[in-house]
Amino acid sequence: GFKCGIVGLPNVGKSTLFNALTRTAAAQAANYPFCTIEPNTGEVAVPDPRLQKIAAIGKSKEIIPTRISFVDIAGLVRGASKGEGLGNQFLANIREVDAIVHVLRCFEDDDITHVEGRIDPVADAETVETELMLADLESLERRIVQVRKRASGKDKEAMAVLPMMEAALELLQAGRPTRFLLNGIAPEDLRILQGLNLLTSHPVLYVCNVAEADAATGNEHTKAVERMAAAQGARTVVISAAIEAEVAQLSDEEELEFLATLGLDEPGLNKVIRAGYELLQLITYFTVGPKETRAWTVHKGAKAPQAAGVIHTDFERGFIRAQTISYNDFVTLGGEVAAKEAGRARDEGKEYVVQDGDIMLFKFNT
Ligand code: GDP
Repeated sequence: GFKCGIVGLPNVGKSTLFNALTRTAAAQAANYPFCTIEPNTGEVAVPDPRLQKIAAIGKSKEIIPTRISFVDIAGLVRGASKGEGLGNQFLANIREVDAIVHVLRCFEDDDITHVEGRIDPVADAETVETELMLADLESLERRIVQVRKRASGKDKEAMAVLPMMEAALELLQAGRPTRFLLNGIAPEDLRILQGLNLLTSHPVLYVCNVAEADAATGNEHTKAVERMAAAQGARTVVISAAIEAEVAQLSDEEELEFLATLGLDEPGLNKVIRAGYELLQLITYFTVGPKETRAWTVHKGAKAPQAAGVIHTDFERGFIRAQTISYNDFVTLGGEVAAKEAGRARDEGKEYVVQDGDIMLFKFNT
C-alpha cells in the first residue's frame, strides 16, 4: 500500500488528527473496509464523488473506494538527531513511508504546552526539518566515504550511486532537504535516491492545525506557513483537528449540518486524504459491474498491464488488452453500452498509459 507519515513536534495535534482519520474509517466500516495494521498505522478510504455517479449509472450494488495508509510517527523533538539520536522506531517508521504530512500548531491554547513555549509554526517546521537534515547529513557523510573509495576502484554499483549521494550531500550541507532533488527527476535516479533511505527525500504536505473559529478562514500563522510552503513548492491544508475529532463521531447528515454551521462544506480530513493522494503522485481508475463499482490506485504514468496487476497478478501476466472509457464519456453518454455505440470504448494495449478516471475492463489469458 501507499503510506503517508504524520510528523511534527509534540502537542501539535498529530494523534488527534490520526485518531480522527482512523475513527472515520472505522465508523464507515460497512462500506469502507478499514484495518489497523499496527497501533500507529491506519488505512483510510480516499473520498471520490465520481464513485457514486459511476455506480448509479452502472447499477452497482456496492461501492468500494481505494485506500491509502497513514502512520502516526511520534518521537521527534529538538536535538533528537544529537545526543540519544533519533529512536529506532522513529527511523523505521519514517523510512517506510512514501510521503510526509507535517502537522504544524497554528492554534493558541494556554492549557496545551508548546514545547518551545511559543506559537510559531514556521520556526517549528524548521526545527523538525533541521533534525531530519542533521540525521541525513550524518548518515550520508558516514556512508559516502566507502562509496567514494569503491567508485574510484571502478566498482560499478558504487559508480552508479555516487553522483546522487554527492548531490544529496551538497544540498544537505547547504541546509536544504534532499526532496529538492525530486523535481523532474528521472525514474532510474528516483530509484537510486529512494535507495539511499534518507529522511528528507519524501515529498511534504503541511497541515495547519487551527482553532475551531479559524477553520474556514485560516489565521496569521497559516498565512505564514502558506508563504513558506509556496517558496518550497509544497502544498498546505488548513484543518482543525478538534473539529475533525468531533466530526468523526457524527452520522453523515449530522456531519454536514455541523460543518455548515462552521462555514465548511466537507471534513478537513477529506482534504488531507486527497492532498496526500496527490502528494504520492497517485491516480485512480475504476471497474464497474452489477456487483460493485470499485476504485483502484496506480502511480501516475502506469501502463495498462500494471494497472491490471493491481487487481490480480494473473491479470498482468496474461494481459491482452483493456477496454477503456474515459470518466467524462461514461457519465455524459450514460454508461458502457452507450459509450460503445458512440465509439468511445477504446481497446488499449500494453503501452497505454492509464489516465485518471479511466473506466477499464481487462481481457487476459489465464
Ligand atoms: P501530538 O503530541 O502532536 O500527537 O498532539 P495531540 O494530538 O496529542 O494533541 C495535544 C493536545 O492538544 C491534546 O490535549 C489535544 O486535545 C490538543 N489539541 C489538538 N488539536 C487541537 C486544536 O485544534 N485546538 C485545541 N485547542 N487543542 C487541540
